[in-house]
Amino acid sequence: MKRKTGQDRSITSTWRPATVAVRGGTARSDFGETSEAIFLTSGYCYDNAEQAAARFRGEEKGMTYSRLQNPTVEMLEERLALMEGAEACRVSSSGMAAMSATLMSTLSAGDHLIAGRAAFGSCRVLVDTILPRFGVETTVVDGRDTDAWKRALRPNTRAVFLETPANPTLDIVDLRAVADIAHDAGALVIVDNAFASPILQRPLEMGADIVAHSATKLMDGQGRVLAGAVMGPEEWMEKTYLAFTRHTGPILSPFNAWVVLKSLETIDLRVRRACENALKVAQFLETRVPRVLYPGLASHPQHQLAMSQMQAGGTIIAMHVDGGRKQAHALLDALALIDISNNLGDSRSLMTHPASTTHASMTEAARLEMGIDEGMLRFSVGLEDAEDLIDDLAQALKAAGV
Ligand SMILES: *Cc1c(COP(=O)(O)O)cnc(C)c1O
Repeated sequence: MKRKTGQDRSITSTWRPATVAVRGGTARSDFGETSEAIFLTSGYCYDNAEQAAARFRGEEKGMTYSRLQNPTVEMLEERLALMEGAEACRVSSSGMAAMSATLMSTLSAGDHLIAGRAAFGSCRVLVDTILPRFGVETTVVDGRDTDAWKRALRPNTRAVFLETPANPTLDIVDLRAVADIAHDAGALVIVDNAFASPILQRPLEMGADIVAHSATKLMDGQGRVLAGAVMGPEEWMEKTYLAFTRHTGPILSPFNAWVVLKSLETIDLRVRRACENALKVAQFLETRVPRVLYPGLASHPQHQLAMSQMQAGGTIIAMHVDGGRKQAHALLDALALIDISNNLGDSRSLMTHPASTTHASMTEAARLEMGIDEGMLRFSVGLEDAEDLIDDLAQALKAAGV
């Protein structure tokens, strides 16, 4: 397959993010198709037996099997590597496949991991339950407290794992400070960047070593496919991540890779518009509900830090009503435009009650420690007109007696 003239890193890495999102990684076949092709094939044929042998020896570049390489998947990986400013990227079947493969390939029995307390529900299960089954020691800390990361260090701390902004409380972790603490102790810094996307935040530029994503969220951004991605140094990718995933196989289907490739063409527009909407909606909510958490509002306790790491406040708002679960559920049930859904990062605005859905499997004490009370709602702001979202919220707040 021929790469379009100019698709070499020395040129593409100088492109600005919006250009990379449209053109990065495009590789055209001999047909010269404009839009990236979908290669739905599990295997590849060779011109002769010696060519097959040379590919398996690694002496000739080329495809051998779609668990290992696929042209459509590689286009997406190259585009995402450029977007995060990484040497290498591998995509996976879901965000959790990316998170679990990153942690399981990096950590061995006897290693210690420190993770932020506020996190996506399944990430907490990985840290609290699954990794310890394999002999990995784990500690969770309040990610906002930079000293807590330092205090949790042990001689065998191999990595730190964090989300910022974190789900669903929108805690911000000081990326530069935590990266310095981890690096002084010889630990790797792994960041789940799903809530920000590379459009708003590039953790590798602030000291992170590895970035992992749920591409299901803002990258697809239209609620269609599950996908994940991991970006980091070429050497770690080859010797650590691929040494694990080549044989465990959490790969992305070429069709889903193609869907995400198409979505990335509009990610810059979508994320910026959703952030504008979120700010307008958060400003409205601030006048109506007891507590709103949105990193783009001056009232967010870590607003300054958030704005020093992110280009805008993001697309997720957390809010609290005083009447507990009953009032929170009443508000959800009164929504006419905004959907009740635990997904996020969609072009449609979606709202959920974390205590009874995404974080229902945790104990109440663990939820409260994270800041998730019964009156909390998480709002993923989409691409509708902000005025229509505000109208819907206004009538639902009234109906729920807020
Ligand atoms: C959704 C999400 C995940 C998991 O991704 P899936 O694609 O659902 O597997 C991990 N981390 C964060 C922050 C998420 O929002």
